[in-house]
Amino acid sequence: MDFNDTPEEAEFRSQVRRWLAANAQRRAAGVAGGSILSAEAMDAAALARARAWQGMKAAAGYAAVTWPREYGGMGGTPMQGVIYAQEEAQFDVSIDLFIIGLGLAMPMLMVLGTPEQKQRFIRPALEGRETWCQLFSEPGAGSDLAGVRTRAVKDGDDWIINGQKIWTSFGHLADWGTLVARSDPARPKHKGLSFFLLDMKTAGVTVRQIRQISGARAG
Ligand SMILES: Cc1cc2nc3c(=O)[nH]c(=O)nc-3n(C[C@H](O)[C@H](O)[C@H](O)COP(=O)(O)OP(=O)(O)OC[C@H]3O[C@@H](n4cnc5c(N)ncnc54)[C@H](O)[C@@H]3O)c2cc1C
Repeated sequence: MDFNDTPEEAEFRSQVRRWLAANAQRRAAGVAGGSILSAEAMDAAALARARAWQGMKAAAGYAAVTWPREYGGMGGTPMQGVIYAQEEAQFDVSIDLFIIGLGLAMPMLMVLGTPEQKQRFIRPALEGRETWCQLFSEPGAGSDLAGVRTRAVKDGDDWIINGQKIWTSFGHLADWGTLVARSDPARPKHKGLSFFLLDMKTAGVTVRQIRQISGARAG
């Protein structure tokens, strides 16, 4: 396979380079970008910078290069997505905070969400106004997600959810989370699960950070 840019891709790359150079600071030579584990370094100022950068990208059309236009994406090809990411990595900007929302939660909503959910959640995530985390893993449910023990019990129009999640990247910064809980304990363990969108500010949600051997934090 030829990984060199086609003429159209080369043109896209130079457009992206021009926009990045005009709007962001180039990373110093030899300085690596932050990783998904660097969220601990996000104080309020860094958080505000990350959100502002995401907002600028959304306004310029670069927030989600490969997403369909109807959701605010650029409708670009996978290669254009790669090109944008390669170029952006050379600039001193923070994008990790949005990975779960833009990479996992919103694509899921595009396929399975109701029109109201799409309307409510996709734009704020795209523009960096809301961030997401993923509440799947539990102390006893990792690779085997069917071991989930967090319970979801229907109470009128509400669901009452009780349990503990762990390894929630960006959990301490997230506005919303996607959560898997056991809603029907009578069914086989791979089947009695439901998927929820959880407002992380809901009364009763407690976030405690854990420190990893690398020094980074997760929830
Ligand atoms: C930095 C970090 C960030 C994370 N972020 C998130 C997040 O945002 N949201 C979230 O929900 N989770 C997150 N996770 C959790 C991650 O998805 C789990 O760690 C993963 O699912 C593995 O689960 P576990 O750690 O309980 O290991 P286990 O499932 O207990 O596995 C332990 C070991 O046993 C092996 N093993 C397990 N089952 C089998 C099998 N059937 N056959 C053979 N070998 C097996 C595994 O390969 C592994 O070596 C994160 C984890 C880390 C480390």
